Amino acid sequence: MLKIMGKSQASIEQMRAYIRKMNPKVSDSVIKMIPLYITEGAAEGVRGDIAFAQSCLETGNFTFSGSAVTLSQNNFCGLGVTKTGMRDNSFKTPAEGIRAQIQHLQAYASMDRLKNRCVDPRYTYVNRGCAPYVEWLGIQENPKWQGWASGRNYGQKIINILNSILSIKASKKALKTEKESVTMNIIKMISKKNCYIGQNKPAYIVIHETDNWSKGADAKAHATAMKNGNLAGTVHYYVDSKSVYQTLDHSDGAWAVGDGKGKYGITNRNSINIEICVNPETDYYKAVDYAEQLAAQLLKQYGWGTDRLKRHYDASRKNCPRRIQAEGRWPEFVKKTAAYMKGATTVKNTTTKNTITLTEKIEVQFPVIQRGSKGTAVSVLQAMLGVKVDGDFGNDTDTSLKAFQKNVKLTADGICGKDTWTKVIEHVKANTK
Ligand SMILES: [Zn+2]
Repeated sequence: MLKIMGKSQASIEQMRAYIRKMNPKVSDSVIKMIPLYITEGAAEGVRGDIAFAQSCLETGNFTFSGSAVTLSQNNFCGLGVTKTGMRDNSFKTPAEGIRAQIQHLQAYASMDRLKNRCVDPRYTYVNRGCAPYVEWLGIQENPKWQGWASGRNYGQKIINILNSILSIKASKKALKTEKESVTMNIIKMISKKNCYIGQNKPAYIVIHETDNWSKGADAKAHATAMKNGNLAGTVHYYVDSKSVYQTLDHSDGAWAVGDGKGKYGITNRNSINIEICVNPETDYYKAVDYAEQLAAQLLKQYGWGTDRLKRHYDASRKNCPRRIQAEGRWPEFVKKTAAYMKGATTVKNTTTKNTITLTEKIEVQFPVIQRGSKGTAVSVLQAMLGVKVDGDFGNDTDTSLKAFQKNVKLTADGICGKDTWTKVIEHVKANTK
């Protein structure tokens, strides 16, 4: 007897190879959505490869010939089809259709509660836990005379397909590559503080930077501070060059882009927010690369394109992610994310930094400047802080300088004197390696 709950045994490569062999004209959208069986299955503890094998059976290997449903319905398991030729449940995206199928299988195989919000319209019709084994999905083989389908040996047909998938030899290298590209190691430290619990309907992935240059202000430190309720601004993920921390469930809204007041359509209740750490110990470009991989993984999970990938700037015109903006890296960020979505394992940065090393010792005298000051020294400071360079020390420069002073543990008085200039120059040195 084969248990429905558990970890998928077949790889994405094996499932893709199987469907290409059985249906050479298979739609590209089907090839693209196959990883969803694994991620959605893992989310509820259901074997995604069993769900995929079931979809192959129900859709005639995604030819949809002789099937009641069409590809565009995103219903890959005949949910709600109780008579031949009948069209029933449709889902907005492949991700939602696959999630519904996984949830329906979970209803048959387990008595546990769902982890994700229920999208399966027929979940409550199932006599919970009546078919823990694939074989028992067939009503004729089920001792309680219940199950998914009435046709004889329904479960065995699924198992036969699964065995064919598993018999496909995959090269070790390809398997390893796939594993690396599909799942990042995400450490969960979920907080329920300073957020909108249960009120998020994700439609965008939004990128931020912490703007926190203090030593040790890495992903773990931010995640810990958030968990303890010490951060007024909250997000779903923190990324540095060592690790990725998830700090909020996707169903909870962060306090991240509220400054936009919804003016640009991106809000705290429709976004998943990712923050990139800029602390001195972090290899910044590596952290950015991890953020691109994470964004790719999330976009794929939801079945979205990079049109859903946004900056905090897009939600409110705030200068965030500040360094990405300052270095003109956003187009590259989007391009690299798209490449990761297509399964690339490493994508090199193309936006280059031209640097020169000054060996000459230069002595410069900077004036003490503050709100109301004007001139070149103000422009220099503005460029270093990453605010608009206009040589006019106004509100933005004042706010940004105070934040900087606070980060480097100076008195946040908005006055740029000897101590602050020294720290500003140290910071520039540390960040232009
Ligand atoms: Zn931000």
